[in-house]
Amino acid sequence: MTVSVVLFTSDLRLHDHPPLRAALLSADTVVPLFVRDDGIAAAGFDAPNRRAFLADCLADLDTGLRDRGGRLVVRSGDVVDQVGKVAAETGARDVHIAAGVSGYAQRREVRLRDALESEGRLLHVHDAVITALAPGSVTPADSDHFAVFTPYFRRWSQELLRDPLGAPRAVRVPDGIRSDPVPSRAEVSGTSAALAGGGETEGRRRLAAWKRSNLAHYEDRHDDLAADATSRLSPHLHFGTLSPAEVVHRARKDGGPGAEAFVRQICWRDFHHQVLAARPAASRADYRTRHDRWRSGRQAEKETAAWKEGRTGYPMVDAAMRQLRHEGWMHNRGRLLVASFLTKTLYVDWRVGARHFLDLLVDGDVANNQLNWQWAAGTGTDTRPNRVLNPVVQGKRFDPDGTYVRRWVPELEGIPGKAVHEPWKRSDPERACSGYPEPLIDLADGLARFRRARGRD
Ligand code: FAD
Repeated sequence: MTVSVVLFTSDLRLHDHPPLRAALLSADTVVPLFVRDDGIAAAGFDAPNRRAFLADCLADLDTGLRDRGGRLVVRSGDVVDQVGKVAAETGARDVHIAAGVSGYAQRREVRLRDALESEGRLLHVHDAVITALAPGSVTPADSDHFAVFTPYFRRWSQELLRDPLGAPRAVRVPDGIRSDPVPSRAEVSGTSAALAGGGETEGRRRLAAWKRSNLAHYEDRHDDLAADATSRLSPHLHFGTLSPAEVVHRARKDGGPGAEAFVRQICWRDFHHQVLAARPAASRADYRTRHDRWRSGRQAEKETAAWKEGRTGYPMVDAAMRQLRHEGWMHNRGRLLVASFLTKTLYVDWRVGARHFLDLLVDGDVANNQLNWQWAAGTGTDTRPNRVLNPVVQGKRFDPDGTYVRRWVPELEGIPGKAVHEPWKRSDPERACSGYPEPLIDLADGLARFRRARGRD
């Protein structure tokens, strides 16, 4: 009886899962293993919102495996030790895993390979499981990765993605393997009040429903904050309950004007992943330094606290920051704006904002979060690194009648239409009773300081 281990990481699904398919084809029985890895918590990535979503994903994966005659095996501790133990207990020769992109995932792969090979076992690393296209599979002539999105998108669009694999019909797991209980969302405290539910079943349901109702209008409506018409698939793509290759196939199959605009966003995800795979240090260090000397000290801390609480006095910034706290999710247009506000208008280090996002975002992802923050701060891949978004202009453009702001900032409920984006223009008595703060900073002052700092005045 041959045994293989499949180590699930950011690929918590049964559909379109190349490592599971390979293991099932090459062994009589398979151990589907998830390790609650101490290293993830030590690296500071173990936030309540993601822990709760992860618990849903594991419970659903276990159910899916049980429906097929198997079950999920859960262990806790150091991932390399635990994989070694499970392989030794079951006599498995082969271990299958999806390739990761972060520095942590790359080190994990090396440690696993060394440990397994020293015991005479083999590690099989499968590409294009957590991304649609494997990082490094398309490169420019003179580099190991693309540093600019548009040429990457052009090349990426010409590549054929593999056809998505179906879910297996049966999974035979060897008898008698010990498993910790599958974690439950109920064990997690401190989550956002309106946190989305996780799991492959929920991800597939959401994809199908959103495709029916919104995909065709994606190009026109994806920046309309009040419409909330984007897919909200980001946590499913982060935890791998949906395969990015399958999402692209299914979007393209339906065609329509929205499909390519949506697929372009999935390509942004691959783009950031291929940057991080080639430059893992970009999770902490500037990808392209602008020699910033970010503000620090009491005043900067006070302003950062107001930003986190959604009390900057700029309604669009505050609405988005409150949505983040309440849902563990924020619309992309909001993310761009609040990141520009923190890093450029307040001139606070992008790492401070990225950390706060990682503490709350259910889709918090090293590649997408750190590199989008760098993009917004102008230290990343943006070809216009010194652009500054104005929250009033952005508000009037992407929330033209103020519906999004009034949804999240009840103090401003009484101000009609787009006037809500400039509450300081109301008369004094009206402002006094709303309890809404005065603007934290004059936008022109923030802009002038940023331009000076970047040597642009
Ligand atoms: P849709 O518009 O429906 O797009 C579909 C999918 O494409 C998304 O689910 C996502 O996987 C991908 N995508 C869309 N936009 C981007 C983008 N700019 N970069 C990379 N992938 C993208 N996304 C994360 O998944 N995790 C993060 O931690 C994260 N942090 C961000 C931080 C900042 C400062 C900014 C500006 C953006 C960040 N994003 C992050 C990207 C983007 O905002 C979210 O992916 C998107 O808002 C999720 O909503 P959606 O699923 O409805 O997106």
